[in-house]
Amino acid sequence: MNSLSEKLWKTKKFSTAFFVCNSLKNYLKVGFMIHIAVASGKGGTGKTTLSVNLATILSEKYNYNKTVLADLDVEEPNSGLFLDGKLKLQEVKYRMVPEWNEEKCTLCKRCANVCEFNALAFLGFSVLVFPELCHSCYACSELCPENALPMKQRRMGELKHYEISDKLDFIESRLDIGVEQAVPLIKLTRDYVKETFDNDTLVIYDAPPGTSCPVIEAVKKCENTILVTEPTPFGFNDLKLAVETMQELGNKFGVVINRSDANDKIIEDYCNGNNIELYGKIPFMREAAEAYSKGKLLVDEIPVMRKYFETIAERII
Ligand code: SF4
Ligand code: SF4
Repeated sequence: MNSLSEKLWKTKKFSTAFFVCNSLKNYLKVGFMIHIAVASGKGGTGKTTLSVNLATILSEKYNYNKTVLADLDVEEPNSGLFLDGKLKLQEVKYRMVPEWNEEKCTLCKRCANVCEFNALAFLGFSVLVFPELCHSCYACSELCPENALPMKQRRMGELKHYEISDKLDFIESRLDIGVEQAVPLIKLTRDYVKETFDNDTLVIYDAPPGTSCPVIEAVKKCENTILVTEPTPFGFNDLKLAVETMQELGNKFGVVINRSDANDKIIEDYCNGNNIELYGKIPFMREAAEAYSKGKLLVDEIPVMRKYFETIAERII
């Protein structure tokens, strides 16, 4: 092999290696959006505290194009109380509900028979729609032979998108007063995140409390879920319910003990005995309660708190 062809061969080999490395790097970088949910078996355990402080640390310490915090506790979103940013978008969100057209209806009763959610009542002389029970499945509308149940938009709430920094965005959805179904708005908010950000995005979902349908909609298909609890008998009881829900869903999850103190053993023993990873602890501190009551971030106000959130961040990524 002469020196020129040797050089070319080396160059070609080098470019191939470079191409493969770069493709791998790009694949790893833009391969998929990562979703992490923060949930708890009951309200008041510190879910929002963990979400806002963790999202702040993640946006500062990790090199994602964006970290996004989305508050999916749509009945009572409060992550925004701790964040200050520029409003980028505000839009009304709707869902589709059938509207009965008396003039076209022949009172055949087919629609009431097909609705699995009892959202339609056939009264003999009219059809009554219960919007709060409707799951917008379109079945009644599609099957009505007279086209007497057209689907119409019905307002359910509002979504706001803020830029907190060049690395951190915040999405908040809020149900209108009197609207009871949280699931459709949670679903639309998750869709918005998916459509708005690129794959190099780390998403933190602040889920609603409890173990019912809204929580399941918020945590489903997340790569990881953090269950926040506190070392009390009530906290322990609700943690067990939340763990059962995660196990049924098949989600990867771990536990964070908030307001950690000398009584952590009850939670630690349970986690050890059930092979559940303890992602970290947030110590009970009077200064933390003061910072919370003023709407301040713990990682900004109490320097020692940073390391606790950094430890959690390292374990969940
Ligand atoms: S299916 Fe249509 S036509 Fe029949 S009762 Fe319902 S609304 Fe009326
Ligand atoms: S759209 Fe579906 S859930 Fe809603 S009323 Fe019709 S059949 Fe029932």
